[in-house]
Amino acid sequence: MSGSGARLGIDIGGTKVALRIEDGHGARESVFRWPASADPRADRDALRAGVAELRRVWDRPVGAVGVAVPAALDAAGRVTAWPGRPGWAGLDLRGLLRELFPAVPVRCGDDGDLAALAEAGHAGVRHVLYVGVGTGVGGGIVLDGAPVPGPGRGSCEVGHLVIDRSGPPCDCGRRGCLQAFASGPATLRRAARLRGEPAGYDELREGLATGRIWARAALRETSAALATAVIGVTELVRPDAVIIGGGFAAGLPELVPGVRDHLRALARPGFPAPPVLPARLGALSSLHGALLLAKPTPPADAP
Ligand SMILES: [Zn+2]
Repeated sequence: MSGSGARLGIDIGGTKVALRIEDGHGARESVFRWPASADPRADRDALRAGVAELRRVWDRPVGAVGVAVPAALDAAGRVTAWPGRPGWAGLDLRGLLRELFPAVPVRCGDDGDLAALAEAGHAGVRHVLYVGVGTGVGGGIVLDGAPVPGPGRGSCEVGHLVIDRSGPPCDCGRRGCLQAFASGPATLRRAARLRGEPAGYDELREGLATGRIWARAALRETSAALATAVIGVTELVRPDAVIIGGGFAAGLPELVPGVRDHLRALARPGFPAPPVLPARLGALSSLHGALLLAKPTPPADAP
């Protein structure tokens, strides 16, 4: 029966997929990485295997599924563009999900919008700008508890806000997008340049913890870029709070205070900067947002 059973949330990311299944009695989570090949057929098989593995250890029925997706989908649920995994263009995602969950309602939503909803709910704030920093930069705006721009009108793409028109190229084809300055890979590239040798995530964390100049300078630029985008959005929608999350940000406690400092410096007289908070759900905001979509609702064909 579709209206009962556990809720399954799936967060489809650029490098990995997180799953969480829960009901009134318990919860299970799992994560798998996409195959290195970037072949969409291998990705499809990996998704099938990841779902099958979770359902093997969860012996109760699944009643509803919510999926957080970074890709743009058309009305039929086909991927129109995903710069993070370009091979997915044209993939029939809705068809794949129907195949995986033939008798269960499945709803998809933009991962940034869903993360913003989940974080706004956890923070108890009605008007929120959420920015997720990971493989890319995503985010969402929630006003009065609803995502902006709203159903059927596309998603909030804060990562593609142009903050410097002569800035570095973005994988969307434009120059100077926030994502081109502040994504995890962009930050690590800058860190490597400043350090004069390759720098991975752990080395950046270590460099920040031990006060290395190259690490601090690399993150300072990321914080400044985020604050520049945030002040622009703030001038338009006046959020009560700005929440910074995403997998890359989750392990860097220096990032939120950095954004806060830059944002304060950008505030205008009479228009104080909104508070900047770390995401409460850490790297799991989109996954919990996907679970919000999986709330069982009576199906149209219910007896
Ligand atoms: Zn862009």
